[in-house]
Amino acid sequence: MTDTTTSGEYRLLIGGRLVNGHGSMPVINPATGLAFVECPRASETQAEEAIQAAKKAFPQWAASAAGERQALLRELADAMEREHESLLRLLTQEQGKPLAESAFEVSAAIGFLRYFAAASPPAPKVLEVTRERRVEQHRRPLGVVAAITPWNFPVLLIAAKLGPALLSGNTVVLKPAPTTPLTAMRIGELCARIFPAGVVNVITDRNDLGAMLTNHPDVRKISFTGSSATGRKVMASAANTLKRMTLELGGNDAAIVLPDADPAQIAPALYAFAFMNCGQTCLAIKRLYVHDSLYDRMCEELAKLANAVVVGDGLNPNIQMGPLQNEQQFAKVRELLEDARERGNVIAGGEVLDGPGYFIRPTIVRDVTDGDRIVDEEQFGPVLPVIRYSDPDDALQRANASPMGLGGSIWGKDPQRLRDLAARMDAGTIWINKHLDFGPSIPLAGSKQSGVGIELAEEGLAEFTQSHVINMALG
Ligand code: NAD
Repeated sequence: MTDTTTSGEYRLLIGGRLVNGHGSMPVINPATGLAFVECPRASETQAEEAIQAAKKAFPQWAASAAGERQALLRELADAMEREHESLLRLLTQEQGKPLAESAFEVSAAIGFLRYFAAASPPAPKVLEVTRERRVEQHRRPLGVVAAITPWNFPVLLIAAKLGPALLSGNTVVLKPAPTTPLTAMRIGELCARIFPAGVVNVITDRNDLGAMLTNHPDVRKISFTGSSATGRKVMASAANTLKRMTLELGGNDAAIVLPDADPAQIAPALYAFAFMNCGQTCLAIKRLYVHDSLYDRMCEELAKLANAVVVGDGLNPNIQMGPLQNEQQFAKVRELLEDARERGNVIAGGEVLDGPGYFIRPTIVRDVTDGDRIVDEEQFGPVLPVIRYSDPDDALQRANASPMGLGGSIWGKDPQRLRDLAARMDAGTIWINKHLDFGPSIPLAGSKQSGVGIELAEEGLAEFTQSHVINMALG
């Protein structure tokens, strides 16, 4: 614990006050494997206080004019814009991603907040007017929302939840992942200056408060992003109180490269969409199916790109890929890599870097297939399996056989064929000749075990509300 600073810099946000935690916990820089800050950790009592503060703030916030809520969301976006540089550096320190990727994430988060600041809460609809009745559908906010986020995009995913939850008149208890709590607390500090007390609360934990939030009778909705394994626990725990929930979970996205594609032309894009954020992206390409006729060339092109990448501490502006985010993920990816080495051939990377930090070079594994762990499981790290196929329909069937269904993509030249396969791919988002292109105006929903409900866009906003029908007798 060499360069540890004190926790005084970081505070929880409960009921409008920035407070110390009843406990504390170290935050590790994944590039060094060393703690660089000792930060607040909330107790169960503090989590309860946060929920009660959000509950108390709810009626007034729900009754406020939409214009006021939009203005405050805009203020948050402006405040984050002013803190852009410090936020992105902190993000790299706690998360590991290169500065350029952190800059992109902070900008994207600001863009998401601005989108919701400019959107309107769902408007009332007149469903029917007859001689006998007038039926209107209104949408009311739900109440206290528990926003639970993972460690891969700690800033963006906070914005993706705060924007729609607050715009539609809910109050929020935000709980970030234990290994990336600092950017959340910085955003909490900004919120403390902008929102009325209790509207936004930020608490941190060591994976011990999530269940309390999802089980709590005063929490009306859970907006959860994380692994499918935790998603199952959330769903079970929310059953007690039959809470509303949106679960954005894991993915094992397949990309299918058709025989008319040009390997040299598409390799850079395929590489980027697989290895962004060190492969720790829910919607990354995690299985690459390549037609027999292109297989060797495609593997060579990808290996060339992987071999050229500079890996290192994200704070160094010259590096292109940072470390895995935490020790547990580092161990999991190493285990999958060892298995892949036995099942197929590693043609680029494969090395765990000597020295401190959780580094694995970008790795391309060929000659693996369905049934191998590296193909069937979400690796969530910098190891891409390339799988050979000879019949596109068979490749599609193998892609669809996964219990996951977050995204997928088809690559080639014949538009009719691309659309036909895309229409039959079983996932929430299918891209053609690209991957990972998403934004606040596009609904995001996983199929199968990749999610429940919809986030973002108009439909995502509606999920933060309760349908409220008023049916009036006439005549
Ligand atoms: P995780 O499931 O381990 O943790 C996510 C959050 O849940 C953390 O805040 C954690 O503290 C909390 N948590 C832990 N136990 C809990 C419990 N019993 N009840 C409630 N909350 C609990 O996920 P992770 O490892 O931080 O993130 C990686 C995973 O997230 C990957 O599977 C990735 O694909 C997925 N992800 C999905 C999306 C999406 O939009 N679908 C986006 C980003 C990440």
